[in-house]
Amino acid sequence: MRAEIISIGTELLMGELTDTNASWIAGRLPALGIQLQWVSIIGDDLPKLTEAFQQGWERSDIIFTTGGLGPTQDDLTREAVAAALGETPTVQDEEIENLRQWFRNRGQDMPAHNVKQAHLIPSAQFITNHNGTAPGWWAQRNGKHIICMPGPPGENRAMWADEIDAKLKDLIDTEVTITRNIKTLGLGEASVDEIMSEYFGHENPYLGIYSKADGIHLRIIARAADEAAAREMIAPVETAIHDRLAPYVWGYDDETPELSVGAALVEQGMTLATMESVSGGFLANTITEAPNSDRWYRGGNVAFTPNAMVAAGVSSDVLETHGVVSQQTANEMALVAQGSTAADFGIGLAGVLGPQEVEGHRPGTIHIAIAHGDDVREFPLRTPPRRLVIKRRSCNTALTELRKLITEVTS
Ligand code: AMP
Ligand code: MG
Repeated sequence: MRAEIISIGTELLMGELTDTNASWIAGRLPALGIQLQWVSIIGDDLPKLTEAFQQGWERSDIIFTTGGLGPTQDDLTREAVAAALGETPTVQDEEIENLRQWFRNRGQDMPAHNVKQAHLIPSAQFITNHNGTAPGWWAQRNGKHIICMPGPPGENRAMWADEIDAKLKDLIDTEVTITRNIKTLGLGEASVDEIMSEYFGHENPYLGIYSKADGIHLRIIARAADEAAAREMIAPVETAIHDRLAPYVWGYDDETPELSVGAALVEQGMTLATMESVSGGFLANTITEAPNSDRWYRGGNVAFTPNAMVAAGVSSDVLETHGVVSQQTANEMALVAQGSTAADFGIGLAGVLGPQEVEGHRPGTIHIAIAHGDDVREFPLRTPPRRLVIKRRSCNTALTELRKLITEVTS
């Protein structure tokens, strides 16, 4: 089924309000097997809204809307749906009584203008709103649907869960959509694109490529009559990704670098310790975002000055000979972190946070080292010179490289 979303409200067009409803609804649709094709924002304007519903009715099987269901003059969603479908709304006595009761429960009388919310066209049914006065509308004709929800996120999300989700599932039990996310780090978007080129541009299974803070993600989406058939369509694409990109793959689906590292270390009964300078504790913080990280993380040292590094056990000879911003220093930090805690792996992370250069190196110059036994792997890195970017990229790189190393040394 092809769908579109219309977010309604002049405040959205004025930049006063960010349209979070559309992205929230969009996030629910793939699992239902509904293909979202358009998202629009329309102001509180009857001719424009009517035109949008007419166009949507032609090109989509389902139109979802949020907003414009309030009791005031500028709430025009109902009027626009009625005009687009050529139907006349009439007041529903039962709904008037529901509204009166809603106000009575709050010790109030129903204001006269709320009567607007009790109107319905013949093709539509009310959708109960347990959290506000505005009932939704579900219009249905010739196998097409218009589903109107109230604007406040608290109301439309509850309405979706209570009233809409299950009905959509019944409507669309003919197809399932399965997605598989494969996360890589180490190659640029253009390189990944080129390596996988012949798999792009197909509708089903669909392969998408996304550049994220933790690398390049590939997403495979397959639609089929049942889950097994959809997985069968995903399999060859996933195999091709593995064949071509295996050294760069570090995680799947909802995995984060820290969750992926944690799962791998727990499985092996292995542990990690860290020493970081430039990231200022971001690495330790990221690691401890993973639940139960105490099972595999022994701890970390934030050594922000050469003195603190020496106090923690880094050789002053190495610091003097090579500088604070050097691969040799990062290597020492990794070995000290590992050795002082008897961990299986140690990460050392050194570099320049900025805004000033350090020892002639520009901000964003990073040296990462991972120690495992006597073996130390080196990962020099250059990031854009913004503080948060430096921290996030260096930590994600350290953890994803560790993830790949764990696989290497244990397989
Ligand atoms: P309405 O139903 O148009 O009266 O909208 C009522 C309230 O819902 C607005 O004042 C916003 O706080 C919220 N709202 C409406 N549309 C959206 C949207 N697209 N995204 C997020 N919040 C919204
Ligand atoms: Mg509004």
